[in-house]
Amino acid sequence: MFVHAVSGVRGSWTSAPHSWHAAAVCVLIACVTVPAAADPHPQLVQWCERLSARLPGISAENCRNSQLTLTGAASLKGFPILARQIPATNRADVADRPVRILLIGGIHGDELTSSSIVFKWLQFMQMAEAREFHWNVVPILNPDGLLARKPSRLNANGIDLNRNFPTPGWQQDAPRYWVKRTGSDPRRFPGKAPLSEPESRWLNDEMERFRPQVIISVHAPFGVLDFDGPVEPPRRFGRLRLNQVGVYPGSLGNYSGLHKKVPVITIELPNARAMPSDAETRRIWKDMLSWIKGNVPKQQETTGTQLVSLPAPPDSKKSGPSKNQTYQPQDGKLDVWSRMSAWMRRTFF
Ligand SMILES: [Zn+2]
Repeated sequence: MFVHAVSGVRGSWTSAPHSWHAAAVCVLIACVTVPAAADPHPQLVQWCERLSARLPGISAENCRNSQLTLTGAASLKGFPILARQIPATNRADVADRPVRILLIGGIHGDELTSSSIVFKWLQFMQMAEAREFHWNVVPILNPDGLLARKPSRLNANGIDLNRNFPTPGWQQDAPRYWVKRTGSDPRRFPGKAPLSEPESRWLNDEMERFRPQVIISVHAPFGVLDFDGPVEPPRRFGRLRLNQVGVYPGSLGNYSGLHKKVPVITIELPNARAMPSDAETRRIWKDMLSWIKGNVPKQQETTGTQLVSLPAPPDSKKSGPSKNQTYQPQDGKLDVWSRMSAWMRRTFF
């Protein structure tokens, strides 16, 4: 994957038209002249200069050494969405598939520490306890927000990406919630349709492709843990204690944790601009890995995943979740989302 990214095959970001040309050539000649896997992307130096200037505690060198690759996706303004896939190498039982973890920082571009801490954790990936898992790490989902003249929660379209995921009833609930509960707060604008934005659309596609068994989404500055999902929540990571603050139409936690039953841990760091101490950064990391090990069940090699088909894309004629969606509650209990959605309608609308 790294080789492909370096060679430009997946580099469909729009800021550098030459990459399209390179990609086409590369496909035609079957990539026979790929650079060595250790070579960084030529533009990584420049990207890391820009990113590290915004990220507390992360130098350009830290960024360059983080082994991020192109995903083929880009933000609205054409900045590449960078990620790193790290397969498990420390497996006690080869009959079990390693747990797949999707770790995301920087959905909100003005929560600078939420990306910095993900870069810090990338430095811990060689630890034995990390190598038991298959990681997919996306430190900056909203680069346009981070790199805006004044860092912004929103993407370049003025949309809160964490309200743009296709929760059931989005078309009805998200706009109403925005108007009635937030007073049309521009910082919480969900957009006009779910998955209307390249960043949320890419993440949704990536969830379908990677099929994570747990998602960790880092935010700031509320200093708590939030949790959505079908298993017992963590009580504390480092100094952060569980405080389930709410359910929002279009949020990742709501969409993945409640609707799709893939647990989402939302880590709210206590400060958006000042990093936790190194000791606290490490404590959160260790507690997080212990919780995942003890609470996210492994799958046998032959077992399918629990994820289900996704709703229709936003540019199709239908909007909102597809009627053909195959989701069913899996434990025979009343679907948590249905109850929550009904409660929200009774309470707020
Ligand atoms: Zn946030």
